[in-house]
Amino acid sequence: MAQTTCSFCGRNKKDVDLMVSGISAHICNYCIEQAYQILGEEDRTKKQAKKPKFKLRKPKELNSYLDQYVIGQQEAKKVLTVAVYNHYKRLSQKDFGEDEVKIEKSNIIMVGDTGTGKTYLAKTLAKILEVPFCIADATVLTEAGYVGEDVESILTRLLQAADYNVEAAERGIVYIDELDKIARKSDNPSITRDVSGEGVQQALLKLLEGTVVNVPPQGGRKHPDQKMIAVNTENILFICGGAFDGISRHIANRLNTQPMGFSKKAETEFVDRNNLLQYVTAQDLKSFGLIPELIGRLPVLTHLDPLDRATLKKILTEPKNALTKQYIKLMDMENVKLSFEDSGIDFIVDKAVEFNLGARGLRSICEAIITDAMFELPSDDTIKELVIDLDYAKSQFDKSKFKKLQVA
Ligand code: ADP
Repeated sequence: MAQTTCSFCGRNKKDVDLMVSGISAHICNYCIEQAYQILGEEDRTKKQAKKPKFKLRKPKELNSYLDQYVIGQQEAKKVLTVAVYNHYKRLSQKDFGEDEVKIEKSNIIMVGDTGTGKTYLAKTLAKILEVPFCIADATVLTEAGYVGEDVESILTRLLQAADYNVEAAERGIVYIDELDKIARKSDNPSITRDVSGEGVQQALLKLLEGTVVNVPPQGGRKHPDQKMIAVNTENILFICGGAFDGISRHIANRLNTQPMGFSKKAETEFVDRNNLLQYVTAQDLKSFGLIPELIGRLPVLTHLDPLDRATLKKILTEPKNALTKQYIKLMDMENVKLSFEDSGIDFIVDKAVEFNLGARGLRSICEAIITDAMFELPSDDTIKELVIDLDYAKSQFDKSKFKKLQVA
């Protein structure tokens, strides 16, 4: 009897793990695997060859999406959505001739107290973006040659987000958090370079303005054996954020020392002392310790408003995935109907304000109040309903570690 052999590689049936037979041909598992790999590669090359097509989402469309999750911060939303929209337009710009207008990118810097939603805005935006997006932390960056990460590591993340498709990464958006942490410690340029601050700012410059950077694909330190990937940052949009603690002082100083020529205007103009960040200018960033070259490469400057009581209350209850909605969902999975009375909500918000914990604090206070119930109820079939009112919230809170903090 004729031996069955693979029609592609000629291997004998007894030498392979699997042989699939067709009408007049056979294929072994090795050839199936190889063919599958070829298919994948073909697919990838086709995808890369295709000119990227974006659904142009207009700023208002992006804004209404953000509104579902992020409360308030209208100014920052407007600036971000316009920047992202223009970024798309820039990317879809046809190859331009000599005298055609070339749209330049406008990197952004957001100034806002910690916990006011800078990262959350960036993350939420990332969910509907059609370009690779990553979040990097400026605090871990150091000048090349020191312990810490080189600035190139920011692009490693972007490459990872783009599945190592370099072309896609080169159209991406990067959010750099805590930019204020690399500020120079004093306004005077120092003679010796300071490792944590100015050197890193210098290193960031070339990244922000557009250059070809050699990126270690696995991140970390540049390793002699590691094969680098060249990434051009010319079309990458950078959004930076930071709390810039103490910048209000610089803003207040500047507002108080307006040149005389402005005094007429200043008399009629009301200055909102509770939200000085709204008046932030590039000059204040410089006073804070960012070098002018870096500020120049972040031409769009916006701020986030502080979260007042009313905003915190909305954050707790209104967004699509508001905390109260999440707890109700969790309890619903235990067949327990959880509800929050207004008095309970007010109590939670009051505590967040009292402890000066901002939006992040809402979660820890909720946990302090609801953890007991989440521990007990799954094993207790008799309880079908739980109402978080003032009494319940207060008694649970008083048992928690927060109470101890309050006494101390
Ligand atoms: P930041 O980056 O400004 O320090 P985050 O963006 O990390 O602050 O905010 C912390 C958390 O607080 C977010 O994960 C989010 O749940 C909540 N939060 C903050 N601001 C808002 C807001 N304006 N609307 C909705 N949730 C918010």
